[in-house]
Amino acid sequence: MKKNIRLIWQLYPSYLVIIFVSLLIVSFYISGYIEQFFIHNTEKDLLTKGHLIKHQIMQYLSPPDKDRIDRFCKNIAASTEIRATVILPDGMVIGDSEEHPAKMNNHKNRPEILTSLDGKVGFSIRESETLRIKMMYVALPLFADDRLVSVLRVSIPLTSINNTIGLVQSRVMLMGLFIAILASVVSLFMSRRISRPIEEMKKGAEKFAKGELDHRLHEPFISELAELAAVMNQTAFQLEDRITTVKNQKNEFEAVLASMTEGVVGVDRDQKIITMNRTALAMLDADPEMAVKRSIHEVSRNASLNKLLEDTIQSGEHRQEDVSFFQNGDEKILNVKCTALKNAVEKNIGVLIVLNDVTQLRRLENMRRDFAANVSHEIKTPLTAIKGFVETLRFGGADNPEDLDRFLTIIDKHVDRLTAIIDDLMQLSRIERKDEIQQIDRKVHPVEDLIQSSIQHCSSMARERKIAVHYTCDPDLAAPFDRTLMEQAAVNILDNAIKYSEENSAVTIRAERKGDRVHIHFQDHGIGIEEKHHARLFERFYRADKARSRKLGGTGLGLAIVKHIAIAHGGDVSVQSKPGQGSRFTISIPAEG
Ligand code: ADP
Repeated sequence: MKKNIRLIWQLYPSYLVIIFVSLLIVSFYISGYIEQFFIHNTEKDLLTKGHLIKHQIMQYLSPPDKDRIDRFCKNIAASTEIRATVILPDGMVIGDSEEHPAKMNNHKNRPEILTSLDGKVGFSIRESETLRIKMMYVALPLFADDRLVSVLRVSIPLTSINNTIGLVQSRVMLMGLFIAILASVVSLFMSRRISRPIEEMKKGAEKFAKGELDHRLHEPFISELAELAAVMNQTAFQLEDRITTVKNQKNEFEAVLASMTEGVVGVDRDQKIITMNRTALAMLDADPEMAVKRSIHEVSRNASLNKLLEDTIQSGEHRQEDVSFFQNGDEKILNVKCTALKNAVEKNIGVLIVLNDVTQLRRLENMRRDFAANVSHEIKTPLTAIKGFVETLRFGGADNPEDLDRFLTIIDKHVDRLTAIIDDLMQLSRIERKDEIQQIDRKVHPVEDLIQSSIQHCSSMARERKIAVHYTCDPDLAAPFDRTLMEQAAVNILDNAIKYSEENSAVTIRAERKGDRVHIHFQDHGIGIEEKHHARLFERFYRADKARSRKLGGTGLGLAIVKHIAIAHGGDVSVQSKPGQGSRFTISIPAEG
């Protein structure tokens, strides 16, 4: 794996290498130059001194006075650090500052002497065979009458020059080291100065990547980086702006979806849920956590819905159907509309399901249908009977006065029944209309008055059937209600309680206030009602015991009227009953205040 190196470790070592190599080159060059400079100066100096000595030596050369020459050479060495040597053209040394000439070798082969014997100035740096130290030699040819008579060689030990050069070089090196340290510190500082803003930008970019788009990068001093930082900041700003817009749009979209009364579910081609609004979750009784990314089948568990979905996916066409769902034993009817979801290039990417809870609507439609059938049936039965008896009368049935009277009584009874049905139907539609246009005349009345007048209303029937009616009610108990309507409701229940009770039994009415409600209970000890009828008892024409109801002249509308009156008052009616154990009907309406 390629190892990434931090920028500072890329920059800094390069700087160091450049600094050290340059300093090394410069130091070598300077030391070389200084060495050359010193040698050149010493050489010039020696040459000058040689020329000065040359004239004094010349006076002792014609003829050569070896002693005086040697002494002269030794005198020179005493006052300067120069060594002077005089050599005859045959290489013989006749005077020297340091040694006795007789002890010295022939010098003819010394390089500087060889050059000088050619009439030129000889120059050489080498170790002295006599003194065993490094020396600089300058040899001058001495002429008398254009004839080379001898060679004057002046020399100087290079030790002191070398020491000076060494000293200068070490100073140069020291200075170089100092400059190197200074330069490396400066370059470290510079490297950091370049790398730090880049590091900061890197950290900033990491924050952007993590979604912290409100973070802003500082603009570094390097103009290119400053521009880059500005561009990155601008990008982050625009990105944040766009994300906010997208989020807002998503929130708005979700708010719209959430507040829809229709259930909306989006599924992909694999029928996995993409989106599902609150209403759909409630309609399908699904857990919000479980619904996401699950298959719609797992959530709905409904074969008809699955079939509808598959049909839509395969055909790509709109499908709509009522689908029954059973939840906790209750049937729920959902109208399911499936539409193919298409992307920008019209490719099917799933299905949009819109759910409408039509349970109530369908129930109402059924009730309306049943109601129409029931009304026709209820009216047709007495009409058929009347028609039959009229025909019997027309075709001789009236001949016998006894039969005539009996038939007319029966016809009269059927006409009464028809009248009762029509009265009740009209009563129902009156309540409905009053409720619709909010004409219920709700005034505060004592509940006891209401109970007393209902008992009064039913007293003759109660007497007839030998039923005792009792009541208990706090005289101060009052509630706002429409007196006529509420009396009608109480009479209907009391009438039933008396009708469906055995002779010589009792009916008890008890009124009480519970919280913000007033409850009026009607308890009888009659035949009771099976549980399966309880829910439908308040529907129009619904009878628990058809034969007995007809026999007793019931229309099957009494309790429907009670229910409507209670609802119109913002209340309700309920039943508790078991066959053979009597029934308890309760009207509850909002209490006063
Ligand atoms: P109906 O005119 O037949 O009495 P209602 O709407 O008043 O019609 O009552 C509906 C049905 O409820 C009745 O047919 C009867 O079967 C049953 N019912 C009502 N009240 C009682 C009661 N107190 N005891 C037993 N059954 C009752």
